[in-house]
Amino acid sequence: MSLRSVSVLEVFPGRRAKNRLAVTAASTYFRFLPYLFGMNRYSLLQRLFLASVSGCLLSFSSCAQQVYEPNQILKDVETLAADSLEGRLPNTPGHAKAQQYLLQRFQSIGLQPVGVQFQQQFTFTPRNSTTPQPGVNLVGMIPGKSEKVIVITAHYDHVGIRNGKVYNGADDDASGIGAILALATHFQKQKPQHTLMFVAFDAEEQGLQGSKAFVANLPVAKERILLNVNLDMVSISEKNELYAAGTYHNPTFLPLLQQVKVPQGLNLRFGHDRPEQGHDDWTMQSDHGSFHRAKIPFIYFGVEDHPHYHQETDEFRNIHQSFYLKAVETIQKAVQVLDKQLPA
Ligand SMILES: [Zn+2]
Repeated sequence: MSLRSVSVLEVFPGRRAKNRLAVTAASTYFRFLPYLFGMNRYSLLQRLFLASVSGCLLSFSSCAQQVYEPNQILKDVETLAADSLEGRLPNTPGHAKAQQYLLQRFQSIGLQPVGVQFQQQFTFTPRNSTTPQPGVNLVGMIPGKSEKVIVITAHYDHVGIRNGKVYNGADDDASGIGAILALATHFQKQKPQHTLMFVAFDAEEQGLQGSKAFVANLPVAKERILLNVNLDMVSISEKNELYAAGTYHNPTFLPLLQQVKVPQGLNLRFGHDRPEQGHDDWTMQSDHGSFHRAKIPFIYFGVEDHPHYHQETDEFRNIHQSFYLKAVETIQKAVQVLDKQLPA
């Protein structure tokens, strides 16, 4: 009789045996668990860390609240903010790489083009130039039960290379793009009430050019659009503060946003939208401004300025990953509340 086949209980009766049994069982479980999910032990630990950060331990594919991969979000930001994308200045090779990457992501998530393609071409004149240039917004959609539309946006361009230095634009606005891709992944699996349109704007840094062109050539009737939810810089905050701006202009959204169960460690603040705040009034400081000008309500999510703003140090290594993942979760929950409670 080989010792191996004798059960532990026969050899070690009583509590000690039971503990031993529990320990053996657990270590066997953890040795084989990664293989059940087709991953190695390292990525299991990594996922445990990220899952615990996002507050949903031991659920790898879906939580009660969100259905997206924290790893994928970080990978999207890291890819867009890579030196090889040269700071994503419009009409440069690095910018074209960003566009290709996003087209693949739109397809892999299963977004539908509104017309025949995701690309919405337009022409704009860059800052400090008189020569018109082509621009490309990327527009994808998830049909809802209602024809009414919530437009969720961020911008994929940045300022490029200056004095030989790449301005990577990790927070500005690769973080917003990572977030809208995560929300698209979520709502692709958890069908929304309203139709959701996801737009990666071009040429925001050139004076909100992409969103101006989009609002001037809306892919659906203006009456169908309920609001714009714009994300620009949502990944760096020493104070763990995420701002929702726009409730001053659209007070009906405030009680809805106040229902959001914010993940522990993140502070959701309302403000930065009053005219008397001057430079601290963010109403026209990113793409939601184009919607506001066209009298389409907006909510803008963003962080206060930080030392990396429009600096070469706005790199992937400097984003606050834990804060960022909580910010994405907060924004996803906010869109979920708006989707559920706004008229269909
Ligand atoms: Zn920006």
